[in-house]
Amino acid sequence: MNRFTLLAEDGAARRGRLETAHGTVETPVFMPVGTAAAVKTLEPRDLEALGARIVLANTYHLFLRPGHERVQRLGRLHRFMSWPGAVLTDSGGFQVFSLGERTGRVKGGPGLVTIAEEGVTFRSHLDGSRQFLSPEKAIAVQEALGADVIMAFDECPPSLADRAYHERSLARTQRWLVRCRQAWREIEDRRADDPGAEQYACDLFGIAQGGLHPDLRARAIEEAAALELPGYALGGYAVGEEPAQMWEGVERDAPRLPRGKPRYLMGVGTPEDLLAGIAAGIDMFDCVLPTRTARNGLLFTSRGKVVIRNARHADDTGPIDPACTCYTCRTFTRAYLRHLFKAGEILALRANTLHNLHFYLSLMQGAREAIEQGRFQSFRRERLAAWREGDPT
Ligand SMILES: [Zn+2]
Repeated sequence: MNRFTLLAEDGAARRGRLETAHGTVETPVFMPVGTAAAVKTLEPRDLEALGARIVLANTYHLFLRPGHERVQRLGRLHRFMSWPGAVLTDSGGFQVFSLGERTGRVKGGPGLVTIAEEGVTFRSHLDGSRQFLSPEKAIAVQEALGADVIMAFDECPPSLADRAYHERSLARTQRWLVRCRQAWREIEDRRADDPGAEQYACDLFGIAQGGLHPDLRARAIEEAAALELPGYALGGYAVGEEPAQMWEGVERDAPRLPRGKPRYLMGVGTPEDLLAGIAAGIDMFDCVLPTRTARNGLLFTSRGKVVIRNARHADDTGPIDPACTCYTCRTFTRAYLRHLFKAGEILALRANTLHNLHFYLSLMQGAREAIEQGRFQSFRRERLAAWREGDPT
């Protein structure tokens, strides 16, 4: 098992350390998203220079292309993508279900996604081929990909789905969690007995669902905790509810997750969300937001957001953020970055991505230091005030 050590606590906020066979991850941590085994526009050495120590890769996408068995033959994800750091894979469930949701065909029938007790049948978004994922299959695929942390296969219903749906879905997700754990333990045992196998921990994290229903969430957490898994996630937040509803839930649920295990809030979020999540006791985050918005020309700075295409930057010889030490800010002016973006240059996407990820990762570093020094709440207040007071650009 990867080792998680809780180093300090400041209110509910936690400073921890996750030691994996592919390096040490200091928490709270933000994990850049590399959907198809690449963080778009960046090289592994860029990620290392940014201080990233763990990235997320998407099981759904890699399962369909190039296929988990091929990735396994090619040395699993670390060698395939030449990334020496840690990797976390999601289970593929979220993408499978959001695919069904977009087409309104989740609930059985001949639609794109069919859920049964055994697993989920869906059509590939690439070629329309019929595919199947079950708890056992999702664990086998993630093990083949070679992630250091793998996620349980669950259903993530829209938070505003009715209670009856949430109850049925959660009951099945909990049965699936037991199957995931069984499949994971069998793989671990097989690997431990195989002298030729690469020996590294591939830790299963359970996911607690339950929508916006406190009693369902409490049951999900209690049952998952009883399985004594290496880590736990809150899923099913930021899927359609109001931010206030989400935070009410996260602040209630996060402290109930086992104290000695890493806690992961899936798919969240904005810089403000990261600070709120840390305050609630979350250790791990992932989101496409900083990389996706970078490619759309939206940049995060110590004084709020910058929209680089705006005319006001056309002759601006300053950096995106005078307080930022990233390569982009040390090298390029706003005027040049605006020109690159307007001209559709690939460098614009890359320069912007470097900056936004640097912003996210430095924010987390600042949060870690603040927790160590017992001043996280004032750190959070100061950051929020500076983002609000900055020039709207
Ligand atoms: Zn910068």
